Amino acid sequence: MPIVVQKFGGTSVGDLKRVENVARKAISEYEKGNKVVVVVSAMAGETNRLIALAHQITDLPDEREMDVLISTGEQVSIALLAITLKKLGYKAKSYLGNQVKILTDSAFTKARIIKVEHNNILKDLNEGYIVVVAGFQGVDEYGNITTLGRGGSDTTGVAIAAALKADVCDIYTDVEGVYTTDPKICNKARKLKKISYDEMLELASLGSKVLQIRSVELAKKFKVPVHVRSSFSDEPGTLVCEEDKTMENVIVSGISYNKDEARITLVNVPDKPGVAAKLFGEISKGNIVVDMIIQNSSIDGTTDLTFTVPKTDLKKALLLVEKVAKDLGAKEVLSDDSISKVSIVGVGMRSHSGIAAKMFDVLGKAGINILMISTSEIKISCVIDEKYTELAVRELHDAFQLDKEPVIEEK
Ligand code: ADP
Ligand code: ASP
Ligand code: MG
Repeated sequence: MPIVVQKFGGTSVGDLKRVENVARKAISEYEKGNKVVVVVSAMAGETNRLIALAHQITDLPDEREMDVLISTGEQVSIALLAITLKKLGYKAKSYLGNQVKILTDSAFTKARIIKVEHNNILKDLNEGYIVVVAGFQGVDEYGNITTLGRGGSDTTGVAIAAALKADVCDIYTDVEGVYTTDPKICNKARKLKKISYDEMLELASLGSKVLQIRSVELAKKFKVPVHVRSSFSDEPGTLVCEEDKTMENVIVSGISYNKDEARITLVNVPDKPGVAAKLFGEISKGNIVVDMIIQNSSIDGTTDLTFTVPKTDLKKALLLVEKVAKDLGAKEVLSDDSISKVSIVGVGMRSHSGIAAKMFDVLGKAGINILMISTSEIKISCVIDEKYTELAVRELHDAFQLDKEPVIEEK
């Protein structure tokens, strides 16, 4: 019997009517003769509400307690879904992360899954249950509740699909698939029929929230076919799968943006060996992920070091950086949280030149100043002022003609 894992996001379980819609989608797969596991997120807005509550108490709430708090949203939605499934006449059972169990490391608020112990689920599936699992949460080796980072239910879905060797992991969301860019900010965005794991990984790591990065990493590693589709229609969505030859012909396949980073600059740091190691060593001890780093050329033996960190970690990062800056003898520490990173992605960039120049030209002509640049084989990112994000995305989408279906010639 095929196994299908379905994951539904917050909007898809936003109210009881929508929970019933989810139940019917699960039942429909079950009635086709599949074993069905449903992973759900918290009801729309709930995780944000819980985070805001803690921040009313303090700017830096204890991270272990944050996970105890923010994992509760999913507890509500799994129970509501299981109750609905039973009312509709089906055998259903809900599980929290620690009941499954989904074992993670102890990095509270951004834990990584180590192992999914799926015997309970398998037993229930064999007995004809529709199994409902809480997304976003796990448990560490000491029994502490952990969460997987924002958007983490995608990762729960894929991890369970990988553990059960499921035939597909359907990610149901509030748009019809993966688009050339966020359809909510660009009405010319075009739905992709398929996208390679690598391109999806880049789009996700560069800010496209349609899938959490870690879920794509796991899907790629365990070759889980992921189908991103809408909860509100039966249209086929986008298949995230291995790269095929035709994909290389497309130079730019998508544009993403990320408004969740902030920029920190250390001004006049002595330009000598060991400085970067000390600075970034301290930051990593705080479990903060640094993204882009730029060091200016040295003038009079000092230099400026600029880097970006997640906005949510800015306060924590500044506390660490200010201390190191003092030890290093830097003049001052500046920060800016109204930046955004806009990126173009495409495996075809590997074999085409002039793409970066075109991107800079488009931004320049739109009057948008570039603050930082970073490139890799298949992406180019520019940090700009946050207020120009939507403009930049739309201009780039037009310039690279992403609204048009590319002409694919087999080589
Ligand atoms: P869920 O609650 O279902 O997990 P999310 O809000 O996390 O939903 O992710 C879906 C959202 O991702 C869409 O509503 C859309 O605004 C956004 N998004 C960003 N980039 C893209 C893209 N390239 N394709 C599709 N959606 C995107
Ligand atoms: N509820 C969590 C969040 O809002 C997890 C998820 O939606 O995937 O981030
Ligand atoms: Mg999500």
